[in-house]
Amino acid sequence: MRNILLGLLLLATAAGATPVEINQIDQFRDRGFEYLDIYTTGFSSAKGLLLENKLYIDFPDTAFSKAVKIMKKKSKRIANVEISRKDPTNARLIITLNKAIDYDIVNVFGRNKTVIEISDRLDNILAYQFDWENKNVKKKGAPLKPVKFEALAAPSDISLKGKTIILDPGHGGDDPGAFSASGVPEKNLTLKTAQATARLLREAGATVYLTRDEDRRSNLKDVVEFANKEKAGIFISIHYNSTNNSGISGTETYYYNPVSRAFAESMHEAIVRGLRRRDRGLHRVRFYTVKYTDMPSVLLEPAYLSNSDENNLANSASFREEVAESIVKGVKNYFRSKLR
Ligand SMILES: [Zn+2]
Repeated sequence: MRNILLGLLLLATAAGATPVEINQIDQFRDRGFEYLDIYTTGFSSAKGLLLENKLYIDFPDTAFSKAVKIMKKKSKRIANVEISRKDPTNARLIITLNKAIDYDIVNVFGRNKTVIEISDRLDNILAYQFDWENKNVKKKGAPLKPVKFEALAAPSDISLKGKTIILDPGHGGDDPGAFSASGVPEKNLTLKTAQATARLLREAGATVYLTRDEDRRSNLKDVVEFANKEKAGIFISIHYNSTNNSGISGTETYYYNPVSRAFAESMHEAIVRGLRRRDRGLHRVRFYTVKYTDMPSVLLEPAYLSNSDENNLANSASFREEVAESIVKGVKNYFRSKLR
């Protein structure tokens, strides 16, 4: 239902058109949901990004009218709604949240209105991941067998030249991870995704380690120890998500240490934009690899195997290629932002 009319944006941005303005924002509650109705003078295609307790809604090529009115309501979920005029070509709404939420955006064409729908987040994903990690670190795995891939001799671009990046495909061996609806285990999909990502990173000049390049389960302590000893620039753990509610779908990203925050934001934004799945947010969670690695590190969950649409996607090479491209984009954006 979200972004259904994205294609029609082209109509609204024809050359010479007066810039679209946001003139009113109404907050209200209806049947257990929280809504923000945002009224514009023309069609505007809003994009959201959920980073911990802040939900950013960006309206490209749109400005706030000088007389914009915000009708706020008291709310259990929303602590504050404010506008940012920092970038005159991109109107940004900053929603500060009191609790974990899910959200959806509908751009209503013809009525020049964008609707943000906010509900309580529905699941216990974190318990599942913690449970898996606890079992893994207690059980001796096969000795770690990381594989090093040098940068390609004549990379097509050199933006990651000199960088060392560790990719950690989740699960392996006697630990299949989540089973997808089609029966393909998570461990196969994480490995294929990591291999596709490694190829693209090497083409951009990076040296890449895979913590496994075969069907093999190692102990997470060994994975972390290896990453810290290697003094890699960044560490990326790749998983696919699963839950007992098949209606839940979307992209989640996790980090833990403050040194990882900027990297995690860059990764989450690139993957949400690249895959165009539901944005389930960037979250700070004490997962094992992101907690104990010394360098900026993230754990990625680009899609849900327990959702039939996303399971089909994760089982297609073209979608995994999009995941890989998005990861590389996030990595490049991160290193570029560090130069500024
Ligand atoms: Zn996993």
